[in-house]
Amino acid sequence: MPRALITGITGQDGLYLAELLVSKGYEVYGLIRGQNNPKAELVARTVPDVTVLTGDLTDLSSLLRALQVSRPDEVYNLGAVSFVAYSWEQATLTTEVTAKGVLNMLEAIRVYAGSDAPAVRFYQASSSEMFGKAQQTPQSERTLLWPRSPYGVAKVFGHYMTINYRESYGMHASSGILFNHESPRRGPEFVTRKVSLGVAAIKLGLQDTLVMGNLDARRDWGFAGDYVDAMWRMLQQPTGGDFVVATGETYSIRDLLDTAFAVAGIDDWTPHVEQDQRFFRPAEIDVLVGDASRAHEVLGWKPTIDFTGLVTMMVESDLKRLADGPDSGLR
Ligand code: GDP
Repeated sequence: MPRALITGITGQDGLYLAELLVSKGYEVYGLIRGQNNPKAELVARTVPDVTVLTGDLTDLSSLLRALQVSRPDEVYNLGAVSFVAYSWEQATLTTEVTAKGVLNMLEAIRVYAGSDAPAVRFYQASSSEMFGKAQQTPQSERTLLWPRSPYGVAKVFGHYMTINYRESYGMHASSGILFNHESPRRGPEFVTRKVSLGVAAIKLGLQDTLVMGNLDARRDWGFAGDYVDAMWRMLQQPTGGDFVVATGETYSIRDLLDTAFAVAGIDDWTPHVEQDQRFFRPAEIDVLVGDASRAHEVLGWKPTIDFTGLVTMMVESDLKRLADGPDSGLR
């Protein structure tokens, strides 16, 4: 039975990946941070077969302990301070967790496994935020990185450190450059979920308006359930590598509003949407669109859900959740 350790198990991707690995017969361990973390209950409810370990990406010895207990064949480093807007407010914390946390995990694997370090396959959750002020369209593994937020800068550090451990120690270390990926499990601070929840609340008469930031930004949005499959495929390759994972299609926040309100049967959203400066960012990424040819060719990976399917899934889920009442739970 293969064994896997996932950091960031309480997040959207951690839950989908844990479900995927359990379905493939893995023994799955998940790292949970902090004392009495309220999200531990969410993990136990959603993926009961996962063994929860406590540890923190900023605490190297806790990572060593987690490796000694789980003895993993594969480590998926999904843990991060991951909300871009927040990363300006807490830039040092973002750097400690999202950047130095990657180095801590790589070091922990190197020290734990010694000369066997290449036997522990490592996945780093890199991000399209690394492209920032995109120097080329669409963006591929060869596009120059130009991050535009403390979060993006931290992810660039983790990306290059992963490549460096591959080149320095021969580790089977892969970096997945994942474009925005969403689902009904996405946190409500991200724009897709903010919109799906807001539209559902407006439709049900629970709220009148949705207060938004920049409506002109464009993103390449895919379904998180598809993207965790790409992570797993990367670690089944003979050697580690870097892969863009994206749909290759880009839509604006306006398109998102059009689609989400239409799913709820509201044709004109203009009376329901306001804009406020507090949701604009100090530096914006105007357009992201990924070229996932390498993932298609080498990994045999393809997305199964398009933008309209994704937004429909999210709005319908939130309509049901809000109609069922506040205790229906985030799953
Ligand atoms: P990101 O791409 O990782 O920053 O993901 P987000 O979902 O947080 O933001 C995607 C885009 O939506 C960014 O260009 C934001 O500026 C834009 N956006 C516009 N209004 C909002 C808003 O109210 N909340 C968030 N989170 N993003 C917004």
